[in-house]
Amino acid sequence: MSARITLVRGDITRQRADALVNAANSSLLGGGGVDGAIHRRGGPDILADCRRLRASHYGKGLPTGQAVATTAGRLDAHHVIHTVGPVWSPTEDRSDLLASCYRESLRVAAGLGARTVAFPAISTGVYRWPLDDAARIAVDAVRGALAAGPEGAGAVARDLDEVRFVLFDEVAYRAFDEALAARG
Ligand code: ADP
Repeated sequence: MSARITLVRGDITRQRADALVNAANSSLLGGGGVDGAIHRRGGPDILADCRRLRASHYGKGLPTGQAVATTAGRLDAHHVIHTVGPVWSPTEDRSDLLASCYRESLRVAAGLGARTVAFPAISTGVYRWPLDDAARIAVDAVRGALAAGPEGAGAVARDLDEVRFVLFDEVAYRAFDEALAARG
């Protein structure tokens, strides 16, 4: 059976889930918005893991659209999955990079055996992606990953119970609610 997609309004750092997704930047060394909140509440172990990643596999930082896991520190989760959303561009279509953040995060989550994964609305803050469009891309990407066949993302469909979008305010919540209803 395919995982449920759920919506809640709230602060992602207050959620309980196997994996919480961070809207990181490519430095992996912290920032504002979700990133700042996750490091503040999660404590220094997350940053220590991020520094280790920078010193090993990700010397140049985490590329846009990719995802990587660390400890969740003091958060009520087993893992934080860091992904780097694209900055919104009015002249270049970066939708596939945004979709990739969701797909890759789910792939990493599935590889860790996570059953519940919580996402923020990636790229809709400092990176300025229009909410309605970002919500449509997010919902399509998650649905696509959950529906995918036996290879690749198929493992996601098999093992996940819930993919939760955690929306910080009412406007974001409504955008995701409409995206879910439109294609439900
Ligand atoms: P990005 O740099 O990818 O745009 P941001 O963290 O700036 O990421 O914002 C992404 C979205 O997350 C925005 O819609 C913002 O309002 C929301 N947000 C900010 N803080 C939190 C939080 N603690 N929990 C959930 N969502 C948050």
